[in-house]
Amino acid sequence: MLVRFFLSLFMACELCAGSVRIASLHPLLSEMARRVGGDGIVEVVDLFPSNAELHSFQPTGQEVMAAAGCPLLLACGKGTEPYLSSLQQSIGKKTRIMELGACIPDVFVPGSNVPDPHWWNSPRNMARASLALAEALAPLLPEEEIAALTQRQQKYAKEMEKLERTARLRLTRAPVAQRILVCSHAAMCHFCAAFGWEPIPVLGIAAESQGDMSSLVTLLKQLRTRGVTCLYTERRESPKFMQNLADSLGVPIRPLIMDGIAPDLNSYEAIFLFNINSIAKGFSDSGSSAP
Ligand SMILES: [Zn+2]
Repeated sequence: MLVRFFLSLFMACELCAGSVRIASLHPLLSEMARRVGGDGIVEVVDLFPSNAELHSFQPTGQEVMAAAGCPLLLACGKGTEPYLSSLQQSIGKKTRIMELGACIPDVFVPGSNVPDPHWWNSPRNMARASLALAEALAPLLPEEEIAALTQRQQKYAKEMEKLERTARLRLTRAPVAQRILVCSHAAMCHFCAAFGWEPIPVLGIAAESQGDMSSLVTLLKQLRTRGVTCLYTERRESPKFMQNLADSLGVPIRPLIMDGIAPDLNSYEAIFLFNINSIAKGFSDSGSSAP
């Protein structure tokens, strides 16, 4: 009992001394932690460099040092960060690595048993993850902060649900036959599951993976039969394979921010609306310029 008293006294003093430091491996999780955790209550340490690629990033000693001492480190999970077990060894057991994707049901890449790790492309998933995050933050905050934490999480979740409704309204304007998302990499399966679209990923999970040229003829035939009017690539990537495919089909390529990395856009909402605008242009006026 006495030990518990001194422990809570120690934790209270730590909190008095400043905010709780939380490390994050993805900018969208950082934003969520800032919004839900609250200014001055939670300090978020961004470990993901703004010029890095999601599927090839490996934390360096510098990132490991930055995470040291944080009680919580947020990761996307679902295999997005294959280095998590070695990172856990490097930072030690005092830092809990929380994979927020663990609370999101799997959506599989079509024709495979591989789950699409890009769960953040559905706002409803973000709302669900924010609840898991608030539950993880609660034991780290003083008791008098819990009510405000709950309010911030509920506000965040409501915003995400509103975003989902806005997107649904716009996407239902697409003719049913055109509700197909042909993407460079398998990153929009959660998005498609949320809105009743069909994902056709051309390449693999990682944006950097290369296409199989021998499958081009079969793929072309399939996409022509389906009347595909637009292809989509990660905004920061422009795989040659996709350009060849678009040229052969005579359709435009439009950008999407599938990996959630966009240093020029300051919020999840801005990224998500960029994607919705890009997709809407793909089915409404496929001849106009990209957003
Ligand atoms: Zn990706």
